[in-house]
Amino acid sequence: MPTPATTDAPSAALLRHFGFSAFQPGQRPVIDAVLAGRPTVAVMPTGAGKSLCYQLPAVMSDGLTLVVSPLISLMKDQVDGLNARGIGAAAVNSHISAAEQRDALARARSGEIKLLYVAPERLALPHFVEQLGAVDLAMIAIDEAHCISQWGHDFRPDYRRLKETLRALRPRNVVACTATATPDVRDDIVASLGLESPAVFVSGFLRTNLYVDVRVHAKAAARDAGIVELLRRPEAQTGAAIVYASSRKRVEALGALLGARLGEPVVVYHAGLDGDARREGQERFMSGQARVAVATNAFGMGVDRSDVRVVVHADMPRTLEAYYQEIGRAGRDKQPAQCVLFYHPSDLRVHEFLVSQTEDPRLRAHEQRKLADMRRFVYGRYCRHRAVLDYFGERMSTECPGCDQCAPEHRLGTVSDAVPTASRPRRERAEVRAAHSTPLRDPDEGDRDRARRALAGVARAGVDVSSTKIAGMLAGEPGCGATLERLSTFGVLRELGSRGCSAVLRELVGGGLLARAGDGLRLTPDGVEVMAGRAPVTFVVPAGAVAPRAPRRERVVLSDDAGLEADARVVEALREWRLGRAAGRPAFTVCSNRTLLALAAAAPSSEREFMSVHGLGAQRWRDWGEEVIGVIASARGR
Ligand code: ADP
Ligand code: MG
Repeated sequence: MPTPATTDAPSAALLRHFGFSAFQPGQRPVIDAVLAGRPTVAVMPTGAGKSLCYQLPAVMSDGLTLVVSPLISLMKDQVDGLNARGIGAAAVNSHISAAEQRDALARARSGEIKLLYVAPERLALPHFVEQLGAVDLAMIAIDEAHCISQWGHDFRPDYRRLKETLRALRPRNVVACTATATPDVRDDIVASLGLESPAVFVSGFLRTNLYVDVRVHAKAAARDAGIVELLRRPEAQTGAAIVYASSRKRVEALGALLGARLGEPVVVYHAGLDGDARREGQERFMSGQARVAVATNAFGMGVDRSDVRVVVHADMPRTLEAYYQEIGRAGRDKQPAQCVLFYHPSDLRVHEFLVSQTEDPRLRAHEQRKLADMRRFVYGRYCRHRAVLDYFGERMSTECPGCDQCAPEHRLGTVSDAVPTASRPRRERAEVRAAHSTPLRDPDEGDRDRARRALAGVARAGVDVSSTKIAGMLAGEPGCGATLERLSTFGVLRELGSRGCSAVLRELVGGGLLARAGDGLRLTPDGVEVMAGRAPVTFVVPAGAVAPRAPRRERVVLSDDAGLEADARVVEALREWRLGRAAGRPAFTVCSNRTLLALAAAAPSSEREFMSVHGLGAQRWRDWGEEVIGVIASARGR
């Protein structure tokens, strides 16, 4: 909603100099902070009107504003636009002659122009500072400020020198603008420029016409069937659809599957195709000859079809920013669109493997954190829009516009949440099960109380403390360090144990009350409100965390005649182990059911105990004795 124009100074200046009668959403708070003299970082999507956030203060302030911008063509547009409005502006870059540059600098020194645009490499030249002379410098505005970050997609080494420039030129204020909302890039901007307690604004990232849906599948085949079914729905056929897949092979396979099942031409697009094939595919999609495109993330740079009604992720993307960017291709026409992410646990394995191949250990750790954030999003049981906004650092101030968590009744198609099959590796099954164990109860007093205690603990521990340490502190574990042991929140959640506390912290991150800050945690604005008791808690402590971790011995009678009793978890684990060991052969070739039960009942932990189990002998000890002891031990320990 535009802020209505009033007679206050910024609004009056907006109308007088720019002819606009109202601010765009997000502009006013930034402008107020800049005018108040605070170093400011403004993060808003493209088209939100970031330029005005420094142009208006520049016009309203005494002295010169230096604008650093990496794009010479945009510089020219802006300078022309400002001059057309009667605002003095000029540019200094490699595209203009030396005489023109001298002239621009002279006009800047004389106060004839309010804004001087400079390319970053100009600033790096030692005599630039001299040439500028003793000018009254109101502000340095850094546009496309993500170029300073090596985590960004557009790193410019020249931007790295801006800190020196700021030190040499001593502007009265600094403002940095970017459309890149990732927390690491933002932190990098602040750190690299050396901004002290900056005002950081993130706004405009909520896509109100997108319905965001995440589906966890235990079976790969069921997931593909789900994609076909979704795209065959009449609602999905009212416009275009983009299906993102993670590899060339998968793009080809899905392209063939969808072509056959939808009975219409399907464009496939990936980097393995030659330039002509890619261009042709893109054109067929853009012109409407083809409605459906299956593609890797290489697709999309030049694709701007406004009527994309469905964006499907056939695999989990590696990062939330990639995900956000890709779902952003849906519903450009502002009409409702569906974004459905189909997940299978093998996706995570693939990304984990690829990330592990990263050579640089620092990058690697960085990639791992991003992957963990993505995974948390997929398994999260909170508003999807809110989860994304919180990741970007924007506070969600309106109702959820639609997602599988807040409005499951609007999910498109049949959501077949497949039951995990026994042949899946244990970790996968546990993950899928966890994703389906939606807490169906409302938060109670206990949840509120625990959430607030945990938040208070994080607030006291400070941002440099790892979440593991904070969990230890909340659980009252002695090993967490003297500083933490002295806190008043030491042991406030003792009954949960450190694992339970970790689970609670994870849920609070998922719920947007905490956010990651490096390796540590910080409270989000919502978290602060909840801690202070000013906002209701929508948080439910995960079942596994509150249930006492006391040994749950599910002993069952498994064999009538022998009267054997065994721990059901051990039996289950042994069955699973046997299946893997059989590697496609019949299970009894490893051991009979009877032997398996006898093993579970005896639960041997040594060679001697193993040998005394009925049906086992030296050969089997040699073949898999130690392996099975390990399986039993870990099943009992769980
Ligand atoms: P960004 O840098 O965030 O991508 P721009 O600064 O280029 O966006 O602005 C995008 C467009 O919005 C420009 O055409 C600009 O003139 C226009 N604009 C900016 N602020 C306002 C406003 N308050 N009212 C109307 N139009 C505006
Ligand atoms: Mg811009």
